[in-house]
Amino acid sequence: MNMKGHLLYIDITQICGIGCTFCMYADKHKSGMHMQLSPRAMQNLAFLINSPDVKRISVSGEGEPLNNIATFHQILGLSRGNKAFEFITSGFLPHDKLSAFYEETSALVFAKDDTCNIRLSSDSHHIERIKHRPHGFSIGYLLERKPAGLSFSFRSVDTDRAFTRQYLVDELAHHGLDARLVRRSTLEDQLVVGETSFGVEYKNVVYPADGTPSGYLELQQYVRAIEEKVQKRFTLGSLNKAPFENGMDVTVKPNGDVFFYGIESERLGNIHDDPVSWQRLSQRAAESALVRALYTQPFMELVDRLKDDEHAQSILKRVNNPYWVIKAMARHDGMLDRMIAS
Ligand code: SF4
Repeated sequence: MNMKGHLLYIDITQICGIGCTFCMYADKHKSGMHMQLSPRAMQNLAFLINSPDVKRISVSGEGEPLNNIATFHQILGLSRGNKAFEFITSGFLPHDKLSAFYEETSALVFAKDDTCNIRLSSDSHHIERIKHRPHGFSIGYLLERKPAGLSFSFRSVDTDRAFTRQYLVDELAHHGLDARLVRRSTLEDQLVVGETSFGVEYKNVVYPADGTPSGYLELQQYVRAIEEKVQKRFTLGSLNKAPFENGMDVTVKPNGDVFFYGIESERLGNIHDDPVSWQRLSQRAAESALVRALYTQPFMELVDRLKDDEHAQSILKRVNNPYWVIKAMARHDGMLDRMIAS
């Protein structure tokens, strides 16, 4: 497998007090841990971050990453320049604290010629639980202060897209900003404010509740929408738009464990204890029959091989995100092996 354009996710905390109803990590939020970087972990992350084959370093968490700003800023400090970071957050902090966070982050990325996109959750699940809404404030901050290296975008898991669209326009109007929405594709809009555009990205809720309103994409429709976006068949791994090759999609968990994103049945090492490099990860991908199949064969063709498996079919009906389908199937002995057997 020839892979380039890797995506590195670093989950820096499990702590969160927000309590979104759909959250997949709610069981970890009270007793969970923050990522703390040992010298070995810093060395490993520096190797991973500074490879020219990495397209983006995405910092988030199994909790809210604003609860562990110190580690995020340490991670930014590991860059040797020209790297694209992303920070995925609810933005729940009071505005004076959020502004201080933006200033410090901007100063750090500016010092290295890096960029950082702050991706704000903008769906009904998050919004109803957040006292200090960050959306209008953040766009106002960006347009007025022009912080070097920072940009903003939005993400939503609302099945009712109209809610997110109207919310963003109303919330910006509340901050004196005249915004309009331009629809781009099933999974993307653009929020336009004057001359500046901000991306809005839609993701599927993983386990949609009964009575989910219309607009919800079933697994097959969701996969098709991603395929339209990248103009190639959906496989696991970091999808790069055709004709570019795909990369590896790697997650580092708050305790330092490393996995290919979505394939948590195969632990690849730990950044505190083991040497971790893209070369070793690529070797692991090539050696694992499961990873090879998931990275090279269209996902819908693979799951179709389980059409006579009752348990697999019930997973495919309940779970409408391909990465979480794999995690759910891994809990059933032999299911993934049967899927990849030719
Ligand atoms: S903010 Fe994120 S981590 Fe916290 S409850 Fe909501 S979805 Fe879960």
